[in-house]
Amino acid sequence: MGVNEAAMNEEDKAALLEKDRNYLWHHISPHNENPMVVVSGEGSWLTDMDGNRYFDGMSGMWCVNVGHGRVEIAEAAAEQMKTVAYATLIQSHVPAIELAAKLNEWLIGDYRFFFSNSGSDANEVAFKIGRQYHHQRGKGSKYKYISRHRAYHGNSMGALSATGQAQRKLKYEPLGVGFSHVPPPYCYRCPFGQTKGSCKMQCAQAYEDAILWEGADSVAGIIVEPVITGGGMIVPPDPYLARLRKICDKHDVLLIVDEVICGFGRSGEKFGHQNFGVRPDIVTMAKGLTSAYSPLSATAVSAEMYESFKESGADNHFRHVNTFGGNPVSCAVALKNIEIIERENLVSRSAYIGKELFSRIKPLESHQYVGELRIFGSAIGIELVEDKRTKEPASAARVAAIIAECKQKGLLISKNGDTVPGFMNILTLSPPLSTTDDEIVFIAETLLQVFGV
Ligand code: PLP
Repeated sequence: MGVNEAAMNEEDKAALLEKDRNYLWHHISPHNENPMVVVSGEGSWLTDMDGNRYFDGMSGMWCVNVGHGRVEIAEAAAEQMKTVAYATLIQSHVPAIELAAKLNEWLIGDYRFFFSNSGSDANEVAFKIGRQYHHQRGKGSKYKYISRHRAYHGNSMGALSATGQAQRKLKYEPLGVGFSHVPPPYCYRCPFGQTKGSCKMQCAQAYEDAILWEGADSVAGIIVEPVITGGGMIVPPDPYLARLRKICDKHDVLLIVDEVICGFGRSGEKFGHQNFGVRPDIVTMAKGLTSAYSPLSATAVSAEMYESFKESGADNHFRHVNTFGGNPVSCAVALKNIEIIERENLVSRSAYIGKELFSRIKPLESHQYVGELRIFGSAIGIELVEDKRTKEPASAARVAAIIAECKQKGLLISKNGDTVPGFMNILTLSPPLSTTDDEIVFIAETLLQVFGV
């Protein structure tokens, strides 16, 4: 870990930490007496208040796709603030119009875009639009959503209901009505006892069974990430998503694809589902949309669905408003962010980073505590076990020690934290798509050293 001269003096640090302790509520963690206080970021690197530099191996929270310190994004935001900082989307404004058109081009489709602030918001909007759509075509009985165990879809009550992670729900239940879950397409621990490559994809069939058992007339839609990312980098067999598309078509059920993490190049394509040749009815996106320089999310809805909202009638428009959603500054930031991704070919760079990194860390597979390495674009999962034969998940202490040692060597990585009790044993990496060749070597060498391989 490099140390620069930008460290704060001891007095300022102590004062900051005291205010942190007294006033700040940290996300998804018990209060840490000595949190890492980030003071600056440049490229793929973050600097803390002690002047320590760390490679941001998770792009923040799977979101800073273009890397830190992009002055042109800051300038685009400032320019937009000077022009008009706020206008509602009850009317319209130039950055939202341009962004919607650009996103439609990226989705290679015919979609309408509803802007909100976060991935959770985008999924809430998808659930509401899906229910209303069915109502407006005389199928009001279709209200249920089916998702997968292990998947995360957000923190709000609807999105959390769709989430299949017991630990994220603990003490917050009961949640929304009409949400149920099917087993994930988890080849390493196949819930159907099958072997990778020689199964009948019972994991996809489970979706059809669930639709039938619930009653297809009661099911509005299913929601999936192209791969389950934060829930443990669970990568389905290639034909899985296309099979789900067919099942949805057969039963008049909407296919909602959550691209909050997989979108904006992370998968090696512009959107994760494009790897599998399917066209979703609804696509939700956030994080990499602005590379997290400003909060923004979008729910892309197929033009066919949108048509039903145009019909006259007092309640046929979508009665949902969001003060900050699609504000001009965030839209301008998103447009600049997408311009950078295109100009620097960061989508194909993502695929390259993933392949290069994966081949360099391949020797980890022989390590006694590594059960499986998994990859999707430039997102990587390392499933740790206590015993390769029994696949007993690695203990929390072992997982924490590896993450801490990586940090000590200047590499920030993460894990599927607070997901499923006893199964929080998957290390995750998701580096900025601007990561250089030297930095790929740094990540790989650090991991190999930490594992002693
Ligand atoms: N969907 C997925 C797949 C996510 O990973 C997340 C957040 O990590 C969300 C939705 C929720 O996004 P947000 O935290 O912006 O509400």
